[in-house]
Amino acid sequence: MFWIGAQIIVFVLTVVVIAGLFFLPQPTLDILWFILIPVLPLTFMLNAGMWRDICPLATANMLMSSRPSRDLTGSWISWSASIGILLLFVLVPARRFLFNMDGPILAIVVLAVTALAFTMGWFVKAKGGFCNSICPVLPVEKLYGQAPLFAVRNARCVPCTHCTAKGCQDLDPVLSVRQSVGNGGGVKDWIRTPFGVFAAAFPGFIFGYFQLSDGVLSDFLTVYGTILGYAAVSLVGFAVLSLALRIPSHRLLPVLGGLAVGIYYWYAAPASLAAFDLAGGEVLKWVMTAFVAFWLSRALRHATPLPTPHKHGTARAVTPTFPLPQAPR
Ligand code: SF4
Repeated sequence: MFWIGAQIIVFVLTVVVIAGLFFLPQPTLDILWFILIPVLPLTFMLNAGMWRDICPLATANMLMSSRPSRDLTGSWISWSASIGILLLFVLVPARRFLFNMDGPILAIVVLAVTALAFTMGWFVKAKGGFCNSICPVLPVEKLYGQAPLFAVRNARCVPCTHCTAKGCQDLDPVLSVRQSVGNGGGVKDWIRTPFGVFAAAFPGFIFGYFQLSDGVLSDFLTVYGTILGYAAVSLVGFAVLSLALRIPSHRLLPVLGGLAVGIYYWYAAPASLAAFDLAGGEVLKWVMTAFVAFWLSRALRHATPLPTPHKHGTARAVTPTFPLPQAPR
């Protein structure tokens, strides 16, 4: 009951935010970009399941979950992951020349993505059509949610209908991120996977975003060139580094996640307070850095080599390295 109530409240709040983007764009944009969105990475580090249990897009995606439909299987898992990453890399830079300033356009995009989540829920079982596949937030949930600090119940899938053949974030976030980079631990394995490319590029992507200021629509080439340029440097740099130093993916992934979220809060924490003329941005920046360092040290301490490939019904047989959500049966 608690989670259903929370899902309804968050869905209604989303409708309010969308209305605000149309009718009171500036204060709504401030609340969205400087309060609501900056809380999400922290939530993912604590346990991404908290957000996935109440995310309004997941609610839209699950509305038709009882309808008989197909599972997310085979090569579509990898293809759909690539689509989600592509969407993320297209949409986030667009903040700089569009979404940070234009409330109605942002509202229309949010409505379109919500409609997409609902429609995919019609065709693919449970979260297989959106939340576990093409959602642009999923790669970030996986990267930051790879070492959850505490367990959260999966409130949506009771029971699990096995909508996703492997790598479900809700069944096991630790296994999910490992399976996203294949079953080998070396750079030659993860660099061939969409998630491996994303994870190595993401610290540079975040850094590039914060090297820019908000601009106008005609800046779009500069914006994409700068952010994707930093992302490419990050990708090549970490690939070479991990190859040269023989860093296995179970060590590299927490470092990449910690680095990306650390860079994010280094810039976003002071910006959030400054947006409301509040002091303390410098302090908050260091507090968040200390928290990320704690998260990373714990993640590295618990990092273990890749477990055997995940099959439904066997995820719990692998000794969990973190307190995990209960996998529904
Ligand atoms: S817990 Fe089961 S039903 Fe829910 S998203 Fe994961 S695989 Fe699909």
